[in-house]
Amino acid sequence: MARDSVATAWQRRFGRDGLGIGFGSDLASDFDISFDLGDAIGTRSWWLGLASCTALVGTAFALAFAVPALPGRQQPALTPAQQEVAALQAIAPLARGGATGTTALPNARLLEPLAEAPERPRIELTAKLSGRASFESALRRAGVGKSDIADVSRLLRPVANLGALPRGTSLDIVLGRRESRSQPRPLDSIAFRAAFDLRVAVSRVDGTLRLKRIPIAVDSTPLRVQGVVGSSLQRGLKQSGLPARLVSQAIATLGYAVDFQRGVGKRDRFDIVVEQDRAETGEVRFGDVLYLALKRDGKDAVELGRFGAGGHPEYFRANGESARKGLMKTPVDGARLTSGFGMRFHPLLSYSRMHQGVDFGAASGSPIMAAASGTISFAGPHGGHGNYVMVKHTKDLTTAYAHMSRFAVRSGQRVTQGQVIGYVGSTGLSTGPHLHYEIWLKGRAVNPVQLKFVGGTQLGGRDMARFREQMAKWRRVAVTGSAPAETAMSPLEKKRRAARG
Ligand SMILES: [Zn+2]
Repeated sequence: MARDSVATAWQRRFGRDGLGIGFGSDLASDFDISFDLGDAIGTRSWWLGLASCTALVGTAFALAFAVPALPGRQQPALTPAQQEVAALQAIAPLARGGATGTTALPNARLLEPLAEAPERPRIELTAKLSGRASFESALRRAGVGKSDIADVSRLLRPVANLGALPRGTSLDIVLGRRESRSQPRPLDSIAFRAAFDLRVAVSRVDGTLRLKRIPIAVDSTPLRVQGVVGSSLQRGLKQSGLPARLVSQAIATLGYAVDFQRGVGKRDRFDIVVEQDRAETGEVRFGDVLYLALKRDGKDAVELGRFGAGGHPEYFRANGESARKGLMKTPVDGARLTSGFGMRFHPLLSYSRMHQGVDFGAASGSPIMAAASGTISFAGPHGGHGNYVMVKHTKDLTTAYAHMSRFAVRSGQRVTQGQVIGYVGSTGLSTGPHLHYEIWLKGRAVNPVQLKFVGGTQLGGRDMARFREQMAKWRRVAVTGSAPAETAMSPLEKKRRAARG
């Protein structure tokens, strides 16, 4: 029996019951598909076995190529609009076509252009007067309308000199709501400092512009500075913090009374009182030099005071004698006499000749002052004199200044005593920066050092008493270490200054 033989072969190979899969069932007894095709070839059972084997292999073959993928849960596809948004929000390298940042927002579907943007209800701005801009043009540039500018100017003219406002003045402007874009905004308010002691504000109240004056308190205590002359009076004064204008005023004034090249030593002390205005807002302003003294080592002190006789203030010595008389003894500050008047051996020409003036050694660029009031009769290059200026004082008296580096005057110009006419240099026949100074009297050069002039006014009577009183007052002014800068101070500095008294 085939069944027996198959079972026997199975048992022979895998043990008694094969792999535990029993074929020895009733089905197997009727329909045995596990037939050894090597046995009993050609029998009915063999054909049955071959058919079942072919059927099994065919089924496996057929199934192997026809199994579809298992269905899973799928995301719905992005619409094109969603894809665009995702691309805009994603961060991707530009090299790979990332659109981030370049086309992020202008998106016709999301933005809708407005027909008209709403305007700010009011604009606060600060306009600064700069260059040659007038008050009116500054307002115009800030957007104030013509009629408002006219109204404001009309209101302000009686209280402020609009043409003379200092450069850098800040105008605080507020512009209000306008009815339409074609009109300028109406001026709501404007405020600025109109003078050292006055702030003005113009504001619109119930439709009309109203002016308000805000006075600024000003303290007018004079400023007193003292210091040591050092290498030159000019440098010493500058170090005390005085502005350049007052330094030259002080030097010109002292020049009437003091022979700078002989009368001033390095250890001499100066003492100066200057008009000073201090606003409560912290600004400082200086006026004129009121008092100046030079306390000299081993010499009489020089004391000069400003005194206004008939609207023409002048400087007087303590004894009431006018300081402004004759010629200034040294027309340049910081100078020392390097070569006197008379015959001398000329250093460049190498022979003796008449030296028709005196030489003052001074630093190049030091200001040269007119020794007395007069008219410039010559200003230009003049042979060995280099840049040369002649000042005609009277019919008979002329002074001349040589070797200048620069001129400060032109021919024909009127100058006053102490006015700067040029600067020390080394032009012409000169071995170094110095001033060659000549005095010509009736067409003849004279020795400036020996020349004596008399004249000038002398205070007397009531004027002298008032002058003495003033001098005593200035001598009592408290001394400040150095002059404050002529600029605004911070509130903190102001407080400290006030605390110091
Ligand atoms: Zn000379």
